[in-house]
Amino acid sequence: MSRLQGTAVSPGIAVGRALVVERDAAPVFRLSLEPGAVAGEVARLETALEGSREQLRAVKDRLSREVGTPHAYIFDAHLLMLDDPLLRARAVEVVETERVNAEWALRTVSEELHDLFDQFSDEYLRERSTDLDDVIGRVQLNLRGSPDAPSLERLPGPVILVASDLAPSEAAELDWEKVLAVATDVGSSTYHTAIIARSLGIPAVVGLKDATRRTPSGSLVVVDGTHGEVVVDPSESTLEELRVAQEEYRLEDERLRTTRELPARTDDGVEVRLEANVEFLEEAATGRLYGAQGIGLFRSEYLLGRGLPWPTEEQQLDVYRRLMEQMHPHPVTVRTWDIGLEALGSRGPSSPNPALGERALRLLRRSPEPFRVQLRALLRAGEHGPVRIMFPFVGGVGDLHLALALLEEAREELRRAGVPFREDVPVGINLEVPSAAVVADLLAPEVDFFSVGTNDLIQYLLAVDRTDPRVSGLYEPLHPAVMRTLAQIATAARAHERPLSVCGEMAGQPLEAVLLVGLGFRELSMAPTAIPRVKEAVRAVREVDARRLAEHCLSLRTCDDIVRFVRQELPEAAASSREPA
Ligand code: PEP
Ligand code: MG
Repeated sequence: MSRLQGTAVSPGIAVGRALVVERDAAPVFRLSLEPGAVAGEVARLETALEGSREQLRAVKDRLSREVGTPHAYIFDAHLLMLDDPLLRARAVEVVETERVNAEWALRTVSEELHDLFDQFSDEYLRERSTDLDDVIGRVQLNLRGSPDAPSLERLPGPVILVASDLAPSEAAELDWEKVLAVATDVGSSTYHTAIIARSLGIPAVVGLKDATRRTPSGSLVVVDGTHGEVVVDPSESTLEELRVAQEEYRLEDERLRTTRELPARTDDGVEVRLEANVEFLEEAATGRLYGAQGIGLFRSEYLLGRGLPWPTEEQQLDVYRRLMEQMHPHPVTVRTWDIGLEALGSRGPSSPNPALGERALRLLRRSPEPFRVQLRALLRAGEHGPVRIMFPFVGGVGDLHLALALLEEAREELRRAGVPFREDVPVGINLEVPSAAVVADLLAPEVDFFSVGTNDLIQYLLAVDRTDPRVSGLYEPLHPAVMRTLAQIATAARAHERPLSVCGEMAGQPLEAVLLVGLGFRELSMAPTAIPRVKEAVRAVREVDARRLAEHCLSLRTCDDIVRFVRQELPEAAASSREPA
């Protein structure tokens, strides 16, 4: 038995068999084979090797014809590598002796060969390791093309997913119904996979650093998403303890759901709207179950999968309409594509630092079409119910003008085509870039609402990567700089009478939620499962007291001082916060 400690990001306990997903160019699974399946797997490997050989010969012939024989010799080297016993025979041997799938065997062989290449003193030979990646990558691709290949959309039964990392597009195509729990090497509580797991009510622990290395695929694993622990090969007594805790958690969750019909109103009568953050249409039902009064953030980019075509205007209209039907009569806020360059089909790493690179609205200049289609779908959705449009990653008034100009173009196109739409769909900003917070007073008159994205705002304000577990201790939602920035945004919104919400993960923490109410936020959007606890905290406090607490926090000098103060003043909210800040 071994215990791994990470960050608890989605509560609950699950027991199951581990499916380990390693990252390569694409995820590579390690699957254990039954003895009877080994011969078939070797045949699958041979077919992929044969397919690769034919492709390489064809490339070589074409190159010889088009650019001359000397260049085509590179592919002779690739063909030799492909047939080298250290690759071919060794991969077959790994499948047979370790009884693993062909993809994993190739990965093992690749590591062995890289070790070998690293030992060469000749630089030219050392550099051939890139050719090796090329050859092995080709075989992996051919394996993936086979109809029985494992994939994220076709998981082999209910599993505990143990992964180094999962990109949002991979999470989008994942067969979540078969995922009992998630454990990842990277990440923190604002990591996207953590956010989705929380929305779906699936236990998750992230930031485990080396869980993929320490968890044999197929082993029995317990994920305790409440305490941030993963136990590999648990003893009988540990299993029993965890089963008791699992039942306690289930009962507590049932009790909390009974608060669904109660209003989210402070003890002195101030209404707070508690909404759900969702990534998938199906999560709207979970939102209703936990009493969400609308969707405060629909992360629309989850409509995109890797390599899939962009959803058409009609397909999007259908999704937005269905979201509104599910949440009727409450509003649905759809955030426009918050994507990176890779979503536009760009190959290779998109930027040395994607969080600061060309993303979201910054892609609008390069490629306006997907945004235009989305805006038309949203304007048309306005005919069917209370939809709101929210632009992410706005850096200032210039960015906003660019987005508003495209919105006006979309209106004009619909007008010309005679397609019915709502002219005045409310338009707001997902306020998450510090420069936008600084000029919030300039932005407020030009939009209908602000929704603060604290996940990114904190990351950029404090210069702390939200996905890097090594700096997660520095990610401080209650840092005085964060409190002051939130207060400044609230002042700007109030001066222009703009509705003000928070849709970052901070809103889903009871303690922080009370402070946000104190700062003047009246809409909080969070993972559906977080709503009941936040509601309890809001109902237990008077708004005047929350305001007094927030004001006092603004005079404190360090995060520690603020945390100490609020924990002392709000012991109950602190106790029900996941990881009290
Ligand atoms: C945020 O940045 O706080 C936010 C809500 O958006 P995301 O987590 O999708 O970046
Ligand atoms: Mg964001």
